Amino acid sequence: MARALFIGRFQPLHRGHEEVIKWLLGRHEEVVVAIGSANESFTPRNPFTVGERIEMLYSMLKELNLLNKVVYCAVPDTKGDSALWYAYVREQCPSFDVAYTNDEFTRLCLEFGGVKVLNTPLFNKEVYSGTRIRELMASGDKSWQSLVATGVLPVLSRINAEERIRSILGIRK
Ligand code: ATP
Ligand code: MG
Repeated sequence: MARALFIGRFQPLHRGHEEVIKWLLGRHEEVVVAIGSANESFTPRNPFTVGERIEMLYSMLKELNLLNKVVYCAVPDTKGDSALWYAYVREQCPSFDVAYTNDEFTRLCLEFGGVKVLNTPLFNKEVYSGTRIRELMASGDKSWQSLVATGVLPVLSRINAEERIRSILGIRK
């Protein structure tokens, strides 16, 4: 099938996401990356704006020479309103043939709408995890830098990501 959809929040875009996108491109001609919770930013779970997350993705795709293989879009969070969320997916995403996710809400919602949904493998999930990376950033442990996707580090440095997260959490240096 030609085009696969992959949905995540990408807070931040990490090596696990990067591996999934490469894995999908081994199976499909093109990948649609949907940036979820696009309307949320500056919160502990969603510290980065959708524009910043687009920059992370763009920077990674450029370095990997994959800009011609991946198209991206943004989908807002609807606080559990699944019908509305599904409508947003349909309206905001370019068309796709199959969706990939390991998130249950996403899977149930899309399947209810008649979309074919498959799982992806997990790549070193204990380490490549948005939650874990945000925790490391908050604690000032620089080891997070090796866990983000190709090309993402300069974007996070430029926007002072570590400081942003500490400020959101009310942590002083
Ligand atoms: P958070 O901890 O903030 O929820 P996350 O690492 O779970 O971040 P999300 O931005 O929530 O990443 O993206 C969710 C999508 O990315 C899901 O489909 C999930 O299965 C996939 N994903 C996340 N981490 C990995 C990984 N290490 N390997 C493969 N897929 C992953
Ligand atoms: Mg998640």
